[in-house]
Amino acid sequence: MRVIAIDGPAGSGKSTVARAVAKRLELRYLDTGAMYRAVVFAVLRNGEDPADHEFAARTARDIELDIGLDKVMVNGVDATIEIRGPEVTRAVSVVAANADVRRELVSRQREWTERNGGGVLEGRDIGTVVFPNAELKVYLTADPEERARRRAKEVTDLDYEAVAADIARRDAFDSGRKADPLTEAVDAVIIDTTGMSIDQVVDKIERLLAAATPSEGQA
Ligand code: C5P
Repeated sequence: MRVIAIDGPAGSGKSTVARAVAKRLELRYLDTGAMYRAVVFAVLRNGEDPADHEFAARTARDIELDIGLDKVMVNGVDATIEIRGPEVTRAVSVVAANADVRRELVSRQREWTERNGGGVLEGRDIGTVVFPNAELKVYLTADPEERARRRAKEVTDLDYEAVAADIARRDAFDSGRKADPLTEAVDAVIIDTTGMSIDQVVDKIERLLAAATPSEGQA
């Protein structure tokens, strides 16, 4: 089973790169951040507090999730737009620090991958926790200013300063939490994407994969 792990902080280019890698390798792509966001969406829809540990854990266990390439369905509701909105973004790190939520979502991520015969998974803990034996683990990073610039271009309702502050806050929270913190796997290849185009990053990953996989006849 081919599994490629792509981790890194917000705005490091994970989603765009992971999608492109999946396309080139003809593998399915899974945005695990969307799963954490979906749990927050469901908690908020119930009018509950995302910091309520038990409620968030129960929501993660009961939730019906369909994470598509361009559409995210949560309990039968199209949540594609809302899971990227400021309300969900503000609360997501708290829910992602909930060890019971993580246990449930990590198990779903492994099931998804088994069912699809592998995949390209992007997140914060794919190479360290979800698939420590992945064929290739990439840790993408970029200067905080560049990451904020990229994110600010994606969202229309927040200016650069607000985006930069949000990214700094989430990075600190995601790296500092006890449960599966954001960190490089010891054997991850770190790519600093500052000043690199998407194609350059994807080419680099393809070269890494080719170098790691013996070509036919050589094995
Ligand atoms: O990738 P994205 O920014 O959408 O992720 C949203 C949040 O979900 C992150 O800030 C992090 O708190 C959490 N997350 C996580 N583990 C993952 C993916 C995302 O903790 N594998």
